[in-house]
Formats: sequence, C-alpha cells, structure tokens
Amino acid sequence: MLAPGAVIGIIGGGQLGRMSAMAAARLGYAVHVFTPEAFSPAAQVAAFSTVADYADQDALRRFASAVDVVTFEFENVPAESLALLESLRPVRPGAAVLAISQDRLLEKQFLNDAGVATAPWRAVHDEAGLAAAVAELGLPAVLKTTRLGYDGKGQQMLGEPGTGAFAALNPKPLVLEGFVDFATEISVMVARGADGAVVAYDAVENRHKHHILDLTLAPAPLPLELLEEAGAIARHIAEKLELVGLLGVEMFVTATGELLVNEIAPRPHNSGHWTLDACPCSQFEMHIRAVAGLPLPPATRHSDAVMKNLVGPEDMALWPNILATPGLIPHHYGKAEARAGRKMGHFTRLFPKGALPGEFGIENALTLS
Ligand code: AMP
Repeated sequence: MLAPGAVIGIIGGGQLGRMSAMAAARLGYAVHVFTPEAFSPAAQVAAFSTVADYADQDALRRFASAVDVVTFEFENVPAESLALLESLRPVRPGAAVLAISQDRLLEKQFLNDAGVATAPWRAVHDEAGLAAAVAELGLPAVLKTTRLGYDGKGQQMLGEPGTGAFAALNPKPLVLEGFVDFATEISVMVARGADGAVVAYDAVENRHKHHILDLTLAPAPLPLELLEEAGAIARHIAEKLELVGLLGVEMFVTATGELLVNEIAPRPHNSGHWTLDACPCSQFEMHIRAVAGLPLPPATRHSDAVMKNLVGPEDMALWPNILATPGLIPHHYGKAEARAGRKMGHFTRLFPKGALPGEFGIENALTLS
C-alpha cells in the first residue's frame, strides 16, 4: 500500500491522466506525468512532469527513479519502453495486459480463449487472406488494423469485395470482423486490486457521432439480467488478465440480446467519465486505488447520469452556455486548441437513482440555456 506522499508515475498526458492526477491528489499522492507534449492536460495538474519521447530510454530511466509505481493513460507505448520500466518499478497494469490490449488479434484470441464471445474474426496478412476471410465471414464486414486504431480510425466497412481496403489500411496485419448488426453499444468499467478483489460499475450505453463517443447513459436502459451479464463478463476478463488496475470493456448488444465484446482498454475510459459525478468513488479514484495497492470500495452509483462529450470547436463554442445552464456539471480538459474531432471536455447531468429519463427527457436535459 503506497503511503500518502508517494509519487505515482503516469505515462501519457491527456485528459485521462489529468483526471487520474486530480483523484491521486485527493488521496495525498503526487503524480509525475511522462508525455512528449509540453503543457499537456495532465501535466497542468500534476506535481511533476517529464516531456520526452515514449522511446527515450534515458528519460524513462530518470522518470522511473523519480516515482514509486508506474501506470498508463495511453496504451500505445513501445514494448521496449515498457520492458525497461518494468525492470525498474512496479508497472500496473503490467506489460502483459498492455500487450494484449494493443493488438486486436491477441485481444480477440485472449477473449475467445477465456470463453468470451466476440464478433467472428479472421487474421488478414495479405490480399489472398482477405479474400479467404471474406469467403468465410461474408459481407458486410469490418476490416481493421490490429494496432494503433482508435475512434474509428484504422478501420473500413467492406460492403463489396475488391475495394482497395487492404492496401489502404496500415500497419499490417489486419483483422476482418463479421459485421455486427447491434442494437446498442454498452461498456463496463471494472477494477481489480492488488489483493485480487474485483469491482465493476454498472453497464452504460454509449452513443457515437462520427465514430467518436457522444453520449453515455448510466445505467444502460436495458433489462437488469443483461446488465448483470455484462458485469459478469467484465469481471471474468479482469480476473483472467490478472489485472491490477482499471479496465474498460466495450460490448455490442445484438438484436437477440447477445453480448459480444468489441474491445478492452486497461485504463480509465471515456465511457466511465460519468462516475466522477454519479459515484462516491470515480473510475479515476478506483484506478489510482488499484495502482497504489489501496482497498477498492464498491463501485456503486448514487445517481443516474447522462454524460455528453464536448468535441472540437463546434462543441467548445457552447462552453459559455454550458456554464450558464443549471444542473450541468462541466469538465474542461485544458487543451488550448480545439481541433476538429478533439475531445475538449464533457459535461454530466445527474438524475435521482432509478430516474434516468427516456429519449425525450434526455434531449430536454441536454438543452442548453
Ligand atoms: P472500434 O475501433 O473497434 O472500437 O470500433 C469503433 C466503432 O465502429 C464501434 O464503436 C462500432 O460502432 C463500429 N464497429 C466496430 N466493429 C464493428 C463490427 N464488427 N460490426 C459493426 N460495427 C462495428
């Protein structure tokens, strides 16, 4: 158990690191952020920061010597950098968990081996492999890079054969997934402590705009047994991974009520931001608790919530209106430049527990002054 005053190293300088650092400060820890970006969202609220490339071995060595434990808010750290950090300090979650989440092929193989259902998939190494995979899975299908994809980048819908999609997507290899005609997308944030205790927040519904998360409804308006099944799947994955830390598990709910896991992310997750305002212990505090070896409290919520992402200049133009609208809880990430598609902040509106409104009520609740 890390004592107050200890230093938690966070790799990555974005909003997930920022909100983790704020949670760490409340528990009496100092945070040291490692990121290539100067004056990053996380560094703005951290006690210490290193601005260096993720592959800079000297900077990583100095960073490790200055912290008590290392964690991540960004997964795509080079494997050699991870290995170096792990040789010097405890890294939570560990390199093995990160390796799985960095690679869609390893991820799907791991999930299926653990008995977790996913969309049907095939590894695609060349054009002939794509043709064979299409013959097996049928069309439509989704062709994705196995590494470095996010927010819908690095993937292409395949409606017909021979579209040049194989050549267009990099890096190789790719993975072809059968198209899931899903009813909704949900996610569960799950944490596992150093003592093996596992807690999971309620499953939430996620709605996307242009492939970027737009709204999260907490809890997901679905039958209780489906929410419980989603929680059980997330716990099972955390246990199988022997995770120490926090994990976001994204799932599709099919029209027949089947749950298929799409993706796992061993870090705080955009679809868990609602927990900052609707839970006694947010996903960020849970993350820091797991990393620091503290006991994990139950992942209960005291309120229902709708979280709305603020993306790009259009949404940030509404910031004054958001501040002027009673009942909205604003979160700004401190990014200077509102580029298109960039996550700049979010806001949450709370409802009494069990009183999440329907579509009309949600639309009303998001209307700005
Ligand atoms: P991902 O990068 O895997 O998180 O995918 C981004 C988004 O693309 C998902 O949130 C879905 O809306 C959609 N998507 C991804 N994979 C599939 C699939 N196999 N079938 C249908 N939609 C998908």
